[in-house]
Amino acid sequence: MNHDAAVSKAHEIASRVLAPSAGQNDKAGRFSNEAVVSLGESGLLGLLLPLGVGGSGLGPRTFAAVIATLAEADASVAMVYLMHILGAATMAAARPGAAQAVTPILKEISAGRHLSTLAFSEAGSRSHFWAPTSRAHRNGNGVRISAKKSWVTSAGQAQSYVVSALAPEGKGPTDSTLYLVPAQTRGVTVAGPWDGLGLRANASSPVTLDDCVVPSSLQLTEDGAGFPAMLNVVLPLFNLGTASVALGLCRAAVAGTASHLKSARFEHLGQSLGESLPTLRAQLATMQIDADGLSARIDDLVDHLEKPRETTMLRVLETKAAAGDVAISVTSAAMRICGGAAFSKHLNIERLFRDAHAGAVMAPTGDVLREFIGKSLLGIPLF
Ligand SMILES: Cc1cc2nc3c(=O)[nH]c(=O)nc-3n(C[C@H](O)[C@H](O)[C@H](O)COP(=O)(O)OP(=O)(O)OC[C@H]3O[C@@H](n4cnc5c(N)ncnc54)[C@H](O)[C@@H]3O)c2cc1C
Repeated sequence: MNHDAAVSKAHEIASRVLAPSAGQNDKAGRFSNEAVVSLGESGLLGLLLPLGVGGSGLGPRTFAAVIATLAEADASVAMVYLMHILGAATMAAARPGAAQAVTPILKEISAGRHLSTLAFSEAGSRSHFWAPTSRAHRNGNGVRISAKKSWVTSAGQAQSYVVSALAPEGKGPTDSTLYLVPAQTRGVTVAGPWDGLGLRANASSPVTLDDCVVPSSLQLTEDGAGFPAMLNVVLPLFNLGTASVALGLCRAAVAGTASHLKSARFEHLGQSLGESLPTLRAQLATMQIDADGLSARIDDLVDHLEKPRETTMLRVLETKAAAGDVAISVTSAAMRICGGAAFSKHLNIERLFRDAHAGAVMAPTGDVLREFIGKSLLGIPLF
């Protein structure tokens, strides 16, 4: 599969599977298994995995385009896909000692039969996912883990969780290790319902690990090397992916608003809203300018990830921070322009508006990113 084929498959799934049910799934808070099956059958679950395990060996450019395409139809599904790709990428980067156990799982992912996700955030350290409060304890060659994971996208739906915990002998707050915990492991339970403001169809429930036994073969990083894996493997793709979700939401908001301005009419004036009100046209134009600005920013980040350089980490941080704000601003404008029709939920605009608020909350949050950027500009250590 090449870039164009992957994006065209994403378009096909978005229009055939996602778009028709996004509204109902949002209302019911229903996870779309059909979407996951379609993504699996199309080969998109193994998008970034190496050819050797049956993956497509594609890179951030395709990843960003696929996510934005899915998000334009249903941001909940796009976020499920994003967290899966991160789980798969973390497994693919696993230490040599895990290769024997992880390779068959990577093959299952490429064959479309395994969905994964990340379980980093904890009740104790909240959005500071880099500092788990849970600790793995030695258990023969492996470990036992008890943890309260506060939000896990695809909770109860994924086949595996990539879990962080402080390393057994870790001294500092970031001395974590990453483990692969199969969903059927004894002691793993979904600890509550998911009834969020937005991304309501992505099952982001809390998950509890109660004395879960994890063999050393499923230890993904060396002891204490979870933090560098979070920074080097997960963060760049997560920030690119959430920015792409934001872009999909902005594009859907522009399209939905334009459609409303063309179809809603002032019958007494004999004109559509768009024909009648220059102020609405100007606000729509601003939405389009902002969406295209975000798109250019994402292209720039992709370029930095393809050709890493000194400014790459800065771009990684900036892009998610900017994308969260743009998505909120563009979808807020859409709410205002579409007025009562949006407010009374006659359009999909209010779903986009609610979904757009998740990006800035998801860690690293927009505030934390600004804190990191400011510190790095001043030469102050980040942690
Ligand atoms: C839809 C959704 C899906 C999610 N899926 C997952 C998942 O799959 N896996 C996972 O591990 N996590 C997931 N999360 C969790 C997410 O990444 C965050 O950890 C969580 O949303 C943060 O929650 P909080 O508001 O309690 O954080 P808090 O830390 O309580 O933050 C509260 C406020 O303080 C600000 N703040 C915190 N620290 C700083 C600082 N140092 N400087 C400045 N401001 C600061 C924050 O920006 C925020 O405004 C998900 C969250 C959402 C909303």
